[in-house]
Amino acid sequence: MKFINLGNHPVPAIGLGTYKLTGREAVNIISHALAIGYRHIDTAQLYENEKEVGQAIINSNVAREDIYLVTKIWPSNLHKDRFIPSVQESLRKLKTDYVDLLLIHWPHHYTPLEDYIPMLIQVKESGLAKDIGVSNFNITQLKKTIDAGAQIVTNQVEFHPWINQARLHHWMSQHNLPLTAYSPLGQGKLLNAKNLENLAAIYARTPAQIILRWMMQLPEILAIPRSSNRNRLAENLNIFDFSISEAHVQLINSWQLENHRMVGAQNGAKWD
Ligand code: NDP
Repeated sequence: MKFINLGNHPVPAIGLGTYKLTGREAVNIISHALAIGYRHIDTAQLYENEKEVGQAIINSNVAREDIYLVTKIWPSNLHKDRFIPSVQESLRKLKTDYVDLLLIHWPHHYTPLEDYIPMLIQVKESGLAKDIGVSNFNITQLKKTIDAGAQIVTNQVEFHPWINQARLHHWMSQHNLPLTAYSPLGQGKLLNAKNLENLAAIYARTPAQIILRWMMQLPEILAIPRSSNRNRLAENLNIFDFSISEAHVQLINSWQLENHRMVGAQNGAKWD
């Protein structure tokens, strides 16, 4: 495993995404992921599976302090009456006293950042989250967040070979802010691309492994692929016994110009 420092904490660069994992399947698959070595789990208030994540951690017998647990606060809770209570509710569901990282899931459409960043800072000061960060923030929003005094440790954004995040990634690198890649496999929709399959054949690996390996060779990137399949969970972790040539890293970088965004705020969830 590769580790990336978030704040002062070395964090496994491959974590487990849990979007769409719910109910008994979520408990089983997350416990299994912990059994085979995943130690970084990403959930969110939106996913309505914090209870299952908490149960899976308990079932796994892996010590809580050995797991890097991330949740995200939904924009409708970015309000002074709801921010802290919603984090406390997440912790109750997760059956823990703290998360390792609390992210703002999306910036609020209407409320200025300056109104809710102090609450994010307060969550860290009160110990409910060891570290704080953001998700889906652009450079302007990151600047405002830092200017407001928040010591954020990551920005979680959509990142895979078909989206061009070069400007954002460069800015974040300059500010020592690692990038957490969500939908790193393009939600599975991009894995049949011919150019990717050709590369996978050269390394005798799967397309998913090529993408994840490429990310691990880029500076300061963590990735949180999700799978509900035990074999694919193992496959996504098994990427540290080979490497891709620099020429092929550059080749994959060049695909980013195609720019396919898979995820938007328009996923039907309520914002306010
Ligand atoms: P991913 O890019 O991780 O893709 C998941 C899909 O890929 C599933 O359909 C899965 O199918 C398939 N898959 C996984 N591994 C393999 C493999 N080795 N070979 C072939 N297919 C595979 O999509 P997500 O959108 O789930 O992103 C990952 C995580 O990022 C989320 O689960 C969530 O935690 C986070 N996220 C955060 C967002 C934010 O706004 N901050 C937005 C979106 C996601 P199967 O289950 O059948 O294996």
